[in-house]
Amino acid sequence: MFFFLTVIPCIKMANSEFPLFKTKVEGSSKKFNLSDPSERREYFHLKAGPEIEKIKTYLEKNSFIAYLLGKKNSGKGTYSKLFIEIFGEDKVAQISIGDLVRSVHKAVASDRQQKKSLIEFLEKNYRGYLPIEKAIDALLGRDLQTLLPTEFILALLKREISKVGKKALFLDGFPRNLDQVSYSLFFRELIGYRDDPDFFVLIDLPEKVIEERMKWRRVCPFCQTSRNLKLLPTTKIGYHQDKKEFYLVCDNPVCQTLAGRSSEMIAKEGQDLGMEGIKDRLATDADLINKANSLYGIPKIFLRNSMPADQVKDLADDYEITPEYSYEWNEAEKKAVVIEKPWVFPDDNGIDSVSFLAPPVVISFIKQLVKILNL
Ligand SMILES: [Zn+2]
Repeated sequence: MFFFLTVIPCIKMANSEFPLFKTKVEGSSKKFNLSDPSERREYFHLKAGPEIEKIKTYLEKNSFIAYLLGKKNSGKGTYSKLFIEIFGEDKVAQISIGDLVRSVHKAVASDRQQKKSLIEFLEKNYRGYLPIEKAIDALLGRDLQTLLPTEFILALLKREISKVGKKALFLDGFPRNLDQVSYSLFFRELIGYRDDPDFFVLIDLPEKVIEERMKWRRVCPFCQTSRNLKLLPTTKIGYHQDKKEFYLVCDNPVCQTLAGRSSEMIAKEGQDLGMEGIKDRLATDADLINKANSLYGIPKIFLRNSMPADQVKDLADDYEITPEYSYEWNEAEKKAVVIEKPWVFPDDNGIDSVSFLAPPVVISFIKQLVKILNL
């Protein structure tokens, strides 16, 4: 268990705190297709086999809590999913606070029994200034003037944690409107709730990556699978002759049945506002990460999404880097031709950089985790 001793004033996070990491293995020239689950398994084994075994042994009898801190679109969900893929759903779980509040809202709004059981839990576990009934009104949106209190979210979180049981846990999301003192108290409360090691996972990624992820994001209207026209296409590409526009076709065979034809993935509403639309959100996220980084007494794992292009050759393999895709229409064969090339972009300091696919970032996570847990 770790305790916070002091809270120091907010400092700006230096990029240098996010160390460059090496995933290149000498003497191995095998290329992996990292979007294929079985190749991915082999890849993880090659690049972090001993570390994975150590963590597996650790998870037989122990657990941990990882607090994921990264800006919107930083890949928190993806990293947790890959970790769960490696170590198993019976050993690892992920809780997103946003999803949790939404699902409790849904359950309480539609089911008296669920509401009763929530109130019973809150009567034992909630310590806050707002009466339980009022807090539930705020949750259900009946009282729009009252913000959902942090203590209430904390209680919901504890309830969810106790439901998950003794598994390693990835927590994604935090109350946004906290000052430094309540922020530190928030974590202290959670830490005291379960007696196992915990740590922050701070994710650093250039705004350019966030921007391109958002700009080219396409979602299947049927199964909600999300891909990216520029950075993460599906296997089949469609083309609108009239608009001269390419689009992604959902790979999920179920969706093609539902659509009665190829199901076109589409941009989400609000996405066209671009970076301007999420500027405030990004600033709050950055502030939150800085606050977390300035907290003493809790170990930290630093994950970086990008690396200067001129250093990456010695440290990583080509297939670990996110390529960019563009398309051309072949009129004779009536099909789209996919063009793949290296994606180099300026990072926040204007340095030409490349962005990693998720699996190598998870390798970096696993290696740091072994150190933090002293395995
Ligand atoms: Zn679909």
